[in-house]
Amino acid sequence: MARYRGSVCRLCRREGSKLFLKGDRCFSEKCAIEKRAYPPGVHGQGRVRFSDFGVQLREKQKVKRMYGLLEKQFRSTFDQAAGMKGRTGENLLLLLERRLDNVIYRSGYATSRAEARQLVKHGHFRLNGRKVQTPSILVKAGMKLELRERSQKVERVKAALETLESKSVPQWIEVDQESQEAVVKQLPVREDITLPIDEQLIVELYSR
Ligand code: SF4
Repeated sequence: MARYRGSVCRLCRREGSKLFLKGDRCFSEKCAIEKRAYPPGVHGQGRVRFSDFGVQLREKQKVKRMYGLLEKQFRSTFDQAAGMKGRTGENLLLLLERRLDNVIYRSGYATSRAEARQLVKHGHFRLNGRKVQTPSILVKAGMKLELRERSQKVERVKAALETLESKSVPQWIEVDQESQEAVVKQLPVREDITLPIDEQLIVELYSR
């Protein structure tokens, strides 16, 4: 699958908010947005006024980049959300939140979604007892996620596990630190996503 290979901190600076793409660095003073809180490029410090379209586009790009998706995947998730009952914007966020790579990140097994995605692809997890290698799988209530025994020795997994206790895990996931298992207690709800996102702007953009 194609993926973005440029500087991820540029993406945060472009969107004007922290997208938490670089693990622990995002919580340190080295965070690029703390040092240069303006868009990248030679005109970054100039005044920018966005049209309605520009505001909608930036919101879509922000969410897409936060969850590490490319346009095609994001659009197909939006189409799936539009076909569901309820509010499309809310459905979209909840579908993104249920992705396996996001669940691994939220459970504290990885310091970023990109790292979680790579861990899944390298086969470090079992879902309901079966090895999984597809980061886009949508979890369901009651599913059990296990870190494979041999994977607990991988350096970056070990580093993430050492800080597991200090991380706040959302209430819809339960992590057992002894057995290195996480259970999806229930599906997430909109209130579980605390980052500032106006999903209605994305709906308006794709409805043009
Ligand atoms: Fe974004 Fe993290 Fe880079 Fe800060 S350190 S700009 S939050 S990716």
